Amino acid sequence: MGTIVSFQAHPDDESITTAATVAKAAAAGHRVVTVFATRGELGQPVPGVLADGEQLSLRRSAEVYESAAALGSKRVEFLGYVDSGMMGEPTTDAPYCFWQADVEHAARRLALILEEEQPDVLTVYDDNGGYGHPDHIQVHRVGMRAAELAGVPVVAQHTFNRDYFQRLLAQAAENREPVEGTPPDLGEEFGKPEAEITHSVDGTEFAAAKRASMLAHASQIGPDHFMLTLPDEAFAVGFGIEWYVIDPIPGPDAPQLFNDLFAPIH
Ligand SMILES: [Zn+2]
Repeated sequence: MGTIVSFQAHPDDESITTAATVAKAAAAGHRVVTVFATRGELGQPVPGVLADGEQLSLRRSAEVYESAAALGSKRVEFLGYVDSGMMGEPTTDAPYCFWQADVEHAARRLALILEEEQPDVLTVYDDNGGYGHPDHIQVHRVGMRAAELAGVPVVAQHTFNRDYFQRLLAQAAENREPVEGTPPDLGEEFGKPEAEITHSVDGTEFAAAKRASMLAHASQIGPDHFMLTLPDEAFAVGFGIEWYVIDPIPGPDAPQLFNDLFAPIH
């Protein structure tokens, strides 16, 4: 059996990005490891969920372990950087934030874990971090370099399929299906056009695990969140399939884990 390591920026990113992929891998008997760059210190907590004096980073760390249990992740690590906040904010200048981290240094820290785990596949985010958040862009840079240092055979860059989401929203409008809550903003920064995406993982059967992982992050994803208000079937269609850019694409000697999960889309 193989190993997949998923590198994430903040607690709850593992729910939104690669949850169905790793739940599928775990169900097939593969080892799943999740590494977080930060503890999401600058997240906006759902109003009223924190007790008086409760520290957000500790709450979010606890939520990560609950989410890991829902997805079948067997090891959780934090690299210990601090959340950088949004692009353009003064928090991105803070000395220990992930955005200010030296890429080579951070990559060596991640590479230590990769050398222990010898994964078949490492997941990171696309070169724009999926939607332009500085810590997500840094996950791409650090993850790509760490994979190189540790000799990981396949790096899968998670992204959002902008065209797929646009088709779903257009279809819902055509069928006059009410879309509850606020659907994601599909601006230029959101994901990649389908033409640039190489692979998908069909995790629709693991949509319930993905939703359970989101529910674990109660300090961030409230019960009225768009993704949680969707009916099961719409959630599975919208979020059960996860999208990746893989370059280079492994040849016929690709690891079994890769072949089990990832399918070319073109
Ligand atoms: Zn994030």
